[in-house]
Amino acid sequence: MSTTLDGKVVLVTGASSGIGEATALALSAKGARVAVGARRADRLESLSRKAAGEVLALELDVTDQESVRAAVAETVERFGGLDILVNNAGVMLSGPIVGADTTEWTRMVETNLLGSMYMVHAALPYLLERKGTVLQVSSTSGRTASANSGVYAATKFGVTAFSESLRQEVTARGVRVVVIEPGFVATELASHITDPTIQAAAQKMAASMRTLQPEDIADAVLYAVTQPEHVAVNEILIRPTDQT
Ligand code: NDP
Repeated sequence: MSTTLDGKVVLVTGASSGIGEATALALSAKGARVAVGARRADRLESLSRKAAGEVLALELDVTDQESVRAAVAETVERFGGLDILVNNAGVMLSGPIVGADTTEWTRMVETNLLGSMYMVHAALPYLLERKGTVLQVSSTSGRTASANSGVYAATKFGVTAFSESLRQEVTARGVRVVVIEPGFVATELASHITDPTIQAAAQKMAASMRTLQPEDIADAVLYAVTQPEHVAVNEILIRPTDQT
């Protein structure tokens, strides 16, 4: 197992906070050249200043196919290729299906599912060239649906289904596909929930346990992307010990 990523080129989406930020920093500390994408450019600039190595900050909206293609093109132009896509950008606007504001459904599907697919589509030609890795950030909600997270769960089940199809299409060509399924991680994710009851429930849940930290997920990413070429870690489910 190689513990270094020297010279590898990584593109991390949703890197302006939480899991994406921690992952970008961890990959940079292992020697990777890291392109970081999100809509909040100021947050990406402060990440760049904290990173151990070279970082390219990219203003990126994964729901916009032109923005997605431009981010991949800029990464390849700057670093000469692409070895790893960490497809992490996501939103969770939990709430009941009955009476839902369907614009929130649109945002989740466009970001978590379509946006993630656009990223794969744009990055794949370069990943095939280098026998690279696609790392998909799904969720425990991609394995088990529960009340008040119907659409979020649907997007994450979708990510898992898409990833398995992708794996079967590209594994013989040397591209590895990894799905990471975190449980509760302390990030900004739940802060965007607009339903006050569900927001309060999320806060109560966080207070009831020792949640995962973004760095715990970054460690799982590092494990997956530092395996020898013949080893494909296809799925990692990682929950807080206290989460039932
Ligand atoms: P955060 O809210 O901290 O991070 C989400 C990231 O996604 C931000 O960097 C945000 O950046 C980015 N993002 C959102 N919309 C877009 C967009 N349209 N284009 C580009 N980037 C976008 O939450 P997490 O770190 O927790 O979330 C990261 C991933 O982990 C998500 O896919 C989430 O579903 C998944 N996950 C999280 C869990 C948790 O408990 N926290 C559990 C399981 C999975 P910006 O707003 O600047 O664009």
